[in-house]
Amino acid sequence: MKTLNVDVAVIGGGTAGLGAYRAAKEHTDSVVMIEGGPYGTTCARVGCMPSKLLIAAAEAVHHIEKAPGFGVHPMGETKINGREVMDRVKRERDRFVGFVLEGVDSIPAEDKIRGFARFIDDNTLVVDDHTTINAKRIVIATGSRPSWPAVWNELGDRLIINDDVFEWDDLPESVAVFGPGVIGLELGQSLHRLGVNVLMFGMGGQVGPLTDPQVMAYADKTFSEEFYLDADSKVDMMQREGDKVFIRYQDKSGDMQETLVDYVLAATGRRPNVDNIGIENTTLTLDARGVPLADKFTMQTSVDSIFIAGDASNQIPLLHEAADQARIAGDNAGRFPEIRVGLRRSKISAVFSDPQIGMVGESFREISQRLGTCGCFETGEVSFENQGRSRVMLRNKGMLRVYGEQGTGRFLGAEMIGPDAEHIAHLLAWAHQNQMTVSQMLDMPFYHPVVEEGLRTALRDLNARLKLGPEMIKHCLDCGPGC
Ligand SMILES: Cc1cc2nc3c(=O)[nH]c(=O)nc-3n(C[C@H](O)[C@H](O)[C@H](O)COP(=O)(O)OP(=O)(O)OC[C@H]3O[C@@H](n4cnc5c(N)ncnc54)[C@H](O)[C@@H]3O)c2cc1C
Repeated sequence: MKTLNVDVAVIGGGTAGLGAYRAAKEHTDSVVMIEGGPYGTTCARVGCMPSKLLIAAAEAVHHIEKAPGFGVHPMGETKINGREVMDRVKRERDRFVGFVLEGVDSIPAEDKIRGFARFIDDNTLVVDDHTTINAKRIVIATGSRPSWPAVWNELGDRLIINDDVFEWDDLPESVAVFGPGVIGLELGQSLHRLGVNVLMFGMGGQVGPLTDPQVMAYADKTFSEEFYLDADSKVDMMQREGDKVFIRYQDKSGDMQETLVDYVLAATGRRPNVDNIGIENTTLTLDARGVPLADKFTMQTSVDSIFIAGDASNQIPLLHEAADQARIAGDNAGRFPEIRVGLRRSKISAVFSDPQIGMVGESFREISQRLGTCGCFETGEVSFENQGRSRVMLRNKGMLRVYGEQGTGRFLGAEMIGPDAEHIAHLLAWAHQNQMTVSQMLDMPFYHPVVEEGLRTALRDLNARLKLGPEMIKHCLDCGPGC
């Protein structure tokens, strides 16, 4: 067994691990990064990028299907070549992974330790029984993994996760997606649009990451119109039958249905990789899910010399958050004990479904819990069904709800499903981070005709409800037609 003595050991070589390694290196040369799995990051290999590539192919089909609505009739039958679809997904995915690998290659070999690390105590790690590392400071950046009910393991190789989809050479005929959350919606809708027979089952009525009941109901209705989605499903039986999976379920009208599918895709959530790293050998204080508690501004845990970043922290499992947390955790591990608070940005998230889902700032649930009992917040709303530019583009489905604080008029957050939600969410997140009031947001320019005019309508509605602006009028002067 080899022994290393280092200033900083980073566990995990994904987005957060790479970021923490680089930030710690600014302070000391004595940093190692330990990676047990493949290099390349979850985001590039099996996450953000391949999922968006599959969505892009699905969008191409959807544009063709929508064309007759404009009087444009594509000639002949649309042929979807599953092999070509998956080939492009994997080819482009590999290109993105290649960029990450170039970064990994530039790290000196002696700083990269291969193998899975486990804590022996607060300052000691063992890697795969070949190396003991005595580290003055440690950053946990071990990411997360999909989780599903153990009984589904009986489905064998018919049970798949997102990683498996991006290894397919061809598209299957049918998939039952369990979990209409971010990953389930993105993959399920794309597969449906690419001609795969998709059934989507949820629990408790949850759709996407939404918390506003009105936006969630709209999302449920919209997706249900396109493919079978039961967000509160009653699946009676699921078992393997040859190369298929037999599913018996009660449909939304209460009738029993039986079906055979090629695969069951588990999109039922992800759990932080902290249960398999010998955490019990540390003195770390854990939350109810067994995740080390950490200060969100310093990423320091209850053990001063241990920091955490990325999905492992269970704070906000998104790429840009992993990068921010990594910068803070790595910087503090490097400069310890003189630690500093780092920048945490306003919350923003997007689901690349169609229509897209966007959430910014505090969620409706968080605001209701904080301000609901005193009635100290108001909600403004817009429907995109008659919104000018959205109708022009035949993308007039969706609703946006914006929340503001009584008295101060400050913009608190928003939830939406609708056209260009990824872009509207950015405008709103920038306003939120600048702590703008709704009136200040309305002072900003809005071009015509754009989807963002819908945002202006929602903000005007909110300002009126906050009693800070005039009542909403049906045909405003600056609105132009269809606002
Ligand atoms: C299908 C999908 C789509 C997504 N889409 C988006 C999106 O559109 N936008 C967005 O912002 N986010 C998206 N995400 C989330 C995003 O990918 C993650 O938030 C981000 O990758 C987390 O980075 P990380 O460094 O924490 O984890 P990872 O990149 O997973 O890195 C963790 C690393 O730690 C290693 N490791 C684990 N345990 C050990 C150990 N004991 N010893 C050594 N190494 C270990 C693992 O092998 C892994 O390489 C998506 C995720 C998925 C799955």
